Amino acid sequence: MNRYRDSFNRVLSRIEAARLEADEHRIIKIIAASKYVDAKEIEAMYNTGQRSFGENRVQDFKTKEEILRDLPIEWHYIGRIQTNKINALLDLNPFLIHSCESFEMAMEIDKRAKVKNKKINILLQINSAKEDTKAGVMAEDAINEYHKIQDNLKNVKLKGIMSIGANSNDENKIAESFKISSKIFETLKKDGAKYCSMGMSNDFEIAIKHGSNMLRLGSVLFNENS
Ligand SMILES: *Cc1c(COP(=O)(O)O)cnc(C)c1O
Repeated sequence: MNRYRDSFNRVLSRIEAARLEADEHRIIKIIAASKYVDAKEIEAMYNTGQRSFGENRVQDFKTKEEILRDLPIEWHYIGRIQTNKINALLDLNPFLIHSCESFEMAMEIDKRAKVKNKKINILLQINSAKEDTKAGVMAEDAINEYHKIQDNLKNVKLKGIMSIGANSNDENKIAESFKISSKIFETLKKDGAKYCSMGMSNDFEIAIKHGSNMLRLGSVLFNENS
């Protein structure tokens, strides 16, 4: 008996209900944010059928990736980026880095990716809630920054945007922040943007309603009681 099966099924039902209400043609990808658990727990979640996992510390990512190397896991990096850890991060070949917070950070990644002769998929993080504690470009600068990265950097490949919902109990505030990001994503689709990564355990239904196609879910999946 897999202890994650029930919580995973409950989450899938909730996602599916929200998805059908928002747009039945939209495909939504789930990234299991596995920072709370060790490699053994990731393997248990993998055995429910989940294939994409997101880590937010390079050292933990490295440890878990080494243990689980034989499994065809798609790894995502969702944490803050420190420039002195970028080389280690690139060596882990993440499928997608969600948390590129500026043109300057994209340059740092690009520089190192070039030396390694790698192309690396990234998302531009947008701080649409305008919170000091959050990283990311301001919404009003997002489209320019996106184009600047696309036009100037050859070893980072922009695939869309990432945003964290407003830190609030007010659903309208959260929805407002998602709407801002989603509007930017819609504009950037003509420039090849594919992923709108937004929605976490406490707000994923609101994120789906406002255009998300990639969820980063941690506690709702890994906490057996939620
Ligand atoms: C931890 C984390 C998540 C998942 O958070 P939950 O609220 O546990 O679902 C999503 N995104 C980022 C960037 C995270 O660090």
